[in-house]
Amino acid sequence: MSRRTPIVAANWKMHTTVRTAAELCQALRESIDEVRGVEKVVCPPFVFLALVQQALAGSSIKVGAQNVFWEEKGAFTGEISPPMLSDLCEYVIIGHSERRKYFGETDETANRRLKAALAEGLHPIFCIGETAEERQAGRTEEVLLRQVRQGLAGIEIPLGFVVAYEPVWAIGTGVPATGEIANEAIALIRRELASLYGGQLAEAARIQYGGSVDGVNIGEFMAEPEIDGALVGGASLKADVFTTIVAEAARLKGTA
Ligand code: PEP
Repeated sequence: MSRRTPIVAANWKMHTTVRTAAELCQALRESIDEVRGVEKVVCPPFVFLALVQQALAGSSIKVGAQNVFWEEKGAFTGEISPPMLSDLCEYVIIGHSERRKYFGETDETANRRLKAALAEGLHPIFCIGETAEERQAGRTEEVLLRQVRQGLAGIEIPLGFVVAYEPVWAIGTGVPATGEIANEAIALIRRELASLYGGQLAEAARIQYGGSVDGVNIGEFMAEPEIDGALVGGASLKADVFTTIVAEAARLKGTA
């Protein structure tokens, strides 16, 4: 049994409608509310946060947002601030590779978002990962260390801080990493956390794997000692598949 409580989070990305978001919540309430020993988080688009919060109220399933801006308020059309989120959810994904790739986000903007989210009492899910080109060039270690150091610069991480190791080449491609590759990268990330924050905070940090996780390959990742759950995109939109992922995480890693 793992000493860290694993965390499985659903990133719905830019999917669902009012109707399908409500249906998915209803199905998940029925299937995973009772699963113990693993933290479960659903991250819908901003516009469905209130709906999802209500639909999951009183259940063991937590709610997260997919991003957050660093300013508290002001003339920032289209942006969402930490205080806006803190009434609606506990978690927030920060630095996702799709934000970095399509919306110009960087280690520096991830750092600003992380600081603002933590100051507001939100729990970040801090995403990092190398591209295929970086891995092929033998630069994985350098890239991950840079992302950790710059993303977390000037930040004191709390106990149980969540990092998602998501190799960019595995996200949404149907080509997951292997358990061994993910475990190796996550061990490196934990060693870096230990050198920045000391062994206790590093050992308590939850480091997920993300990238084409499904109901079949989840077991391979959960069998690895360093991997503390999963960040799940595409497969989280199917209630039955997400249920299998959560159940497998609980079976292989659950703390209950
Ligand atoms: C993600 O969105 O973080 C992700 C890992 O997506 P997918 O599971 O679809 O690869």
